[in-house]
Amino acid sequence: MADFLVLGAGMVGVSTALALQEQGLSVTLIDRKAPGRETSFGNAGIIQAEAAEPYGLPRDPMTLLRFALGRTNDVTWSVAGVAEMLPALWKYYRNSSPARHAEISRTHVRLTERSTRDHAPLIAEAGMENLITRDGIALLYRNPAEYAAAVADAERVHATYGTRFRAVDGADYAREDPALLKAPAGVIHWQDSWSCASPGTLTAGYADLFVRRGGQVVTGDASTLRQKGTGWQVETDEGTAGATQAVIALGPWSPRLLARFGYRVPMIYKRGYHGHFAAPRAPVRPFLDVAHGIVAAPMTDGLRLATGAALVTRDSPADPRQLNRGRSGISDLIEVGARIEEPQWSGARPCLPDMLPLVGAAPRHKGLWMNFGHGHQGFTLGPTTGALLAQMVAGHPAEGFDALLPSHRM
Ligand SMILES: Cc1cc2nc3c(=O)[nH]c(=O)nc-3n(C[C@H](O)[C@H](O)[C@H](O)COP(=O)(O)OP(=O)(O)OC[C@H]3O[C@@H](n4cnc5c(N)ncnc54)[C@H](O)[C@@H]3O)c2cc1C
Repeated sequence: MADFLVLGAGMVGVSTALALQEQGLSVTLIDRKAPGRETSFGNAGIIQAEAAEPYGLPRDPMTLLRFALGRTNDVTWSVAGVAEMLPALWKYYRNSSPARHAEISRTHVRLTERSTRDHAPLIAEAGMENLITRDGIALLYRNPAEYAAAVADAERVHATYGTRFRAVDGADYAREDPALLKAPAGVIHWQDSWSCASPGTLTAGYADLFVRRGGQVVTGDASTLRQKGTGWQVETDEGTAGATQAVIALGPWSPRLLARFGYRVPMIYKRGYHGHFAAPRAPVRPFLDVAHGIVAAPMTDGLRLATGAALVTRDSPADPRQLNRGRSGISDLIEVGARIEEPQWSGARPCLPDMLPLVGAAPRHKGLWMNFGHGHQGFTLGPTTGALLAQMVAGHPAEGFDALLPSHRM
């Protein structure tokens, strides 16, 4: 019997498995798919060291009105989706008050500021340096007034957390990035972030490293998790797998499983889409077209356009409109080229109403641990919360991270 079952082989589960293994524990990593094929596959690939503050829900009436009238492309919604998530959205709204958001950000920045440091040894040892660019991300503003406000806010963020940025005149930036067809009003270049040209491959590469170090990856169904004697068991393709302890790292699927054990976890599922395009010229670094809420990220599969959030029901069919609007909106800034044919990808950012992941021991079940709810930044934070969880398992409290603990939140 292994020491640990880690359920879910996205960036969070794979990183958790590696961190537990580093403590000398034997670990079996279980997923129904190959590692890194779900949310950790389809994201924008940015290791967001700049994301000191998590995305709050806007509270000013004008922005809310624009959301309500469907005038935004960064956030779209359906009545059924909002109705389904209403209790969680209400909590999210309350946690987005300036005072609460500042308090939450004090914990969030302690995660993001170490994120690249936590990825670095894994990237090196997994042999994945070729996928990584250490050159930040850019936010392109079309409207001069919005750009001026963004510069003022970036200065505040820099003064508060030390996050580095450059404010670049649009014409200068267009000279710097030959892929741009025209100059935006201005650009905020966050310099500390890294980008990955294939997030799914990086996650799978970390899983290969885990196997090379003696770990086991097994195909199995986490929904069969049960407590057995003093340990935990799940059904896998290779029979029953058991361990004395288990970690739930199922990203957006975590609340459904935990409901069986009596834990109610309100989650906001912010769906996103991507498509790949045969752009003749890749941008020098990923950028967000702020006005159209779409990220353009150069990837091994082509130029990946990734959307903002769609607040829709969990099982509603794919709706191409948000991606299509983003694609036509961004087309005067960059030649995106023809769409590369592939099934439409979508995934849900697993967001908790207080904008922080749940990391730590399950309050009412011995040997059960949680590590999920990383929202917009799970690709960034997998190695960081994996290391924090392993530290807690070893009996060392993660100082300054009480706000992540399930015992404080459920
Ligand atoms: C469009 C978009 C863009 C994004 N861009 C970024 C970005 O640039 N940077 C960033 O940091 N984050 C980004 N994110 C967020 C990030 O992708 C997620 O936070 C992160 O991938 C979550 O990782 P995870 O390991 O928790 O979940 P997942 O990667 O979803 O892993 C969960 C795993 O659980 C498995 N699973 C589920 N149910 C079962 C079951 N019953 N049995 C067995 N296995 C099961 C799944 O197969 C999956 O492999 C983006 C998200 C989206 C949608």
